[in-house]
Parts: sequence; C-alpha cells; structure tokens
Amino acid sequence: MKKTRNTRQRGIILDILRESHEHPTAEIIYRDARRVLPNISLGTVYRNLKLLVERGLIRELNGRGFGRYDGNLARHDHFTCQVCGQISDLAASEDRALHRRVAARTGFEISHHRMEFYGRCPSCRAKASSRARARKPRSRSPYTR
Ligand code: ZN
Ligand code: MN
Repeated sequence: MKKTRNTRQRGIILDILRESHEHPTAEIIYRDARRVLPNISLGTVYRNLKLLVERGLIRELNGRGFGRYDGNLARHDHFTCQVCGQISDLAASEDRALHRRVAARTGFEISHHRMEFYGRCPSCRAKASSRARARKPRSRSPYTR
C-alpha cells in the first residue's frame, strides 16, 4: 500500500519535471505537486528528488546557491540569467577543437562536455536599459515645455 503511494508521488514529481522548461526549485515542484497531492510534504518532495537524481531520471543543477532540477536528460547546455535567475536550455555545444585542446593539455580522454553560460537574459537587459533611460536627465530646451 505504502509502496504504491510512494510510486505515485514519485511519478507525479517526475511528470512535473518532464513537462517543465523552467528548471524549477524543490519549492516550486512542491507547489505544483500539491495541486494533485494536497497532503504531500516538502520533505517528501526533497526525498523523491534525491532518489530520482540517484536513479539518473532527472538532473540537479545548482543555480544561485539552491538546487534546480531538470527533467530533460537529452544533452544540452544552459544559460543562467544572473539577474532574474532564469535558466534556459541551449543546444549542446559540439566543440571538438576544445576536446582536442583539453586532451592535449591534460592527457584525459574526453567523451563529451557541458557548458554553463552566465549573463543577462533579453528581458533583464531591456529592463536595465529602460531604467537607464529613465535616470538620464531630460535635456531642457527653451523651445519645448
Ligand atoms: Zn533575467
Ligand atoms: Mn535544461
């Protein structure tokens, strides 16, 4: 009986992650899971996330000091906005020249690599530039009012 309930909880958490492109935190997954399982606890969500990571069914990412989770196991890279914290998927980089350089330098045999990009997303860039415009003093012309 208990096993069935645990399996169902885990299945729902896995579904939430597979359907999301937001790389949600445990708290966000908890909020979504409660819509289906009103009695689920945050602790249960954490325990299941840990198990799913151990079983290789999801990936844990670390962004801005707290864990973010990814249900997309296909090889891909990430861009993290350092302003709003949004993590976006990028096509996997296939930089063979990088492999050769690192291999030559270290003697490691490289099968693949992952890249993490950081910076500002387009929406945070737009917000920053409109704030900059608002701060700029208006030029005062004697001919306009
Ligand atoms: Zn942003
Ligand atoms: Mn991803």
